Amino acid sequence: MQYISTRGTAPVLEFEATMLTGLARDGGLYLPDHIPPLTQQEIAALAGLSYEDQAYIVMRPFIGSTFDDETFRTLIANAYRDFGHPARAPLKQLAPNHFLLELFHGPTLAFKDFAMQLIGQLFQAALARSGERVTIVGATSGDTGSAAIEAFRGLDNVDVFILYPHGRVSDVQRRQMTTPTDANVHALAVDGDFDTCQALVKDMFNDFTFRDEVRLAGVNSINWARVLAQVVYYFSAAVSLGAPHRPVSFCVPTGNFGDIFAGYIARAMGLPIEKLIVATNHNDILHRALSSGGYVTDGVKPSISPSMDIQVSSNFERALFDAYGRDGGAVTQSMDALKATGGFTISQGALEFLREAFASGRASELETAATITRIAQTTGEVLCPHSAVGVHVAETFLSATPMVTLATAHPAKFPDAVEAATGARPALPERMADLFAREERVTRLSNDLSAVENHIRRAIRA
Ligand SMILES: *Cc1c(COP(=O)(O)O)cnc(C)c1O
Repeated sequence: MQYISTRGTAPVLEFEATMLTGLARDGGLYLPDHIPPLTQQEIAALAGLSYEDQAYIVMRPFIGSTFDDETFRTLIANAYRDFGHPARAPLKQLAPNHFLLELFHGPTLAFKDFAMQLIGQLFQAALARSGERVTIVGATSGDTGSAAIEAFRGLDNVDVFILYPHGRVSDVQRRQMTTPTDANVHALAVDGDFDTCQALVKDMFNDFTFRDEVRLAGVNSINWARVLAQVVYYFSAAVSLGAPHRPVSFCVPTGNFGDIFAGYIARAMGLPIEKLIVATNHNDILHRALSSGGYVTDGVKPSISPSMDIQVSSNFERALFDAYGRDGGAVTQSMDALKATGGFTISQGALEFLREAFASGRASELETAATITRIAQTTGEVLCPHSAVGVHVAETFLSATPMVTLATAHPAKFPDAVEAATGARPALPERMADLFAREERVTRLSNDLSAVENHIRRAIRA
């Protein structure tokens, strides 16, 4: 299997290079040149297997010859060993036809651990073999950063730099990034919002001199390996609800469109997913785009679900690529218009393609808080604000088809919003109970590409 760029002009790569590169050199995102289907029998046979065995079967066709079968199995086992639940991604029932997929039992309490813990293993194995070192740079709205730091801390051949928007992440999120003591880990607080951080990271990748000098690698959800790791839990949830004999729908709290795009890949592999529902907070560009065809940015408004406070949703480009019949030229035109004018229009044909797979909805701040309150009262399940956005939107789409809403983070990551809604402050799990006693280490930087690059050059050498 080979990987091609959504903009059509970057070199075609194998899995290993795709993973280590992150962003394509033409500014695009990598995708497999074809989607390997699983047969109905193969999907049915996933039922009852461990999460790790399911992960192996779902991901194996995508990794080519990068790892042999035994190595790949071991890396998967290592990745999920530290999860705090034996099922890894347990399903809970909220209502007769509504289920919650708890994705927050990993080491940093958000679904990002599913991909990042695996990527940490894959990078380590690939770099140990080649003797190379890389500099990982990532932008975070809060959860990617802590998950990346947790996955890469202490590794010899990796330096990690995480850019987060100063003052716009929760205290727990910030402390998870600023308190690890490993010398190869660097938290950078940038003056701006998540889109500022993401744009700086993209600009570093497009500065080829810098990119090659420090051997830049990316672990944002622009990295295909992250999307791939997330495909697995769509299969695990669906087969436990009766797939492939019974279709399911998923409702996904969405920011950068990475998580829901993994669902799209599962659907393309043959998993019977009726609809993938994009749930947004009041930063609702994706809901507006799918409703009207106009993808128009209008500034990020802070919310109680900060990991979804995004206007430029990177992975949407991957869906657009398919919607335009894999025409890299059409995607390039849209992305150029986005950069020049802050928006673009999706063609009628492409919009119809997207609406076949995706539906969408939004939750206001009040609706999000009211959902946390009501679900805690009626079911005892305490939702984080992102998961509450998902549950609110999912409830408007309930039907005879089972609905699975993704619970993307643990409520204790967002204790202020949860306490305001329920009256009780959710406790951090035992293993991070001393988070607020640990010392913080962080560098504050302005929104200035060369300042950030120079800081990284110096820190790597030190
Ligand atoms: C990252 C994140 C999201 C959004 O996921 P995307 O893949 O960016 O769409 C939602 N909820 C939480 C808690 C997150 O950390």
